[in-house]
Amino acid sequence: MLVTLKEILSKADEGNYAVGAFNSPTLESARAAVEAAEELQVPVILSHAEVHFELTPLEIMGPILVNLAEKASVPVAVHLDHGSSLDVVKRAIETGFSSVMIDASHMSYEENIRIVSEVVDFAHQYQVSVEAELGVITSSGIGGEETVSENCESDGAEEYYTDPEVARDFVKRTNIDALAASFGTVHGIYMKEPNLDFARLASIYKNIEKPVVMHGGSGLRVDEYVRAINAGVRKINYYSYVARAGAEAVTEFIAKEAPPHFYHDFTVLAREAMKQDIKRAMEIFMNKINA
Ligand SMILES: [Zn+2]
Repeated sequence: MLVTLKEILSKADEGNYAVGAFNSPTLESARAAVEAAEELQVPVILSHAEVHFELTPLEIMGPILVNLAEKASVPVAVHLDHGSSLDVVKRAIETGFSSVMIDASHMSYEENIRIVSEVVDFAHQYQVSVEAELGVITSSGIGGEETVSENCESDGAEEYYTDPEVARDFVKRTNIDALAASFGTVHGIYMKEPNLDFARLASIYKNIEKPVVMHGGSGLRVDEYVRAINAGVRKINYYSYVARAGAEAVTEFIAKEAPPHFYHDFTVLAREAMKQDIKRAMEIFMNKINA
């Protein structure tokens, strides 16, 4: 069933677990995420990132995601990832998305508040949830995970981390439903071990009294996920390592099997490999594993 992000995350807050948000720019990735969620009977967030519109336009992928969500046997939120403007937010809401992220984190603080507030005023009229970002979550430059700050490849520099006091003010003034915070994770494939600031994360969560979102959430150790969830992370954006798992399955098949190859076989292999990677992540995010 299609539900809002707010609904999914408030239940996660009560249960002290996190919900995976999986970018779904292809039919295979979307189906992998929904099948994984149904097999484990856990909620899931299907994300479509604005930077992926060049792979599949919003108007093509959006209705597919909404349809998959409506027919699913588990709660599914359909979410716009790293939206850059009110215009793209409006397009996502018209398509039936139940949640949007507006990323104005690269703007000045006051400008970020102005843009996010405008989006919240619009989206909340339609009971659509809003996530915004404060501080900048940088990118390793490898893996192409969703971000509008692609030029910010500083690999997790601390000057970009979210300030817990500023976060309190930001959430109060914008009335967002979830906050993407920067505390050491990086978009894309990790080129060096991340150094996560869990104390900062815990203060942010305490100050904002809303769910915290972890971007760059694939590629961490199990104990890092557990500590992050226990410190207030309720949504984990997980993509690059899923996409890599799908590609690896296809690459292996091509190396082993003599041609001719048929493209539809690749889609089945990729979907299955991505589903297994997603299920592994979902089991960790439910926070029942002792790490
Ligand atoms: Zn992100």
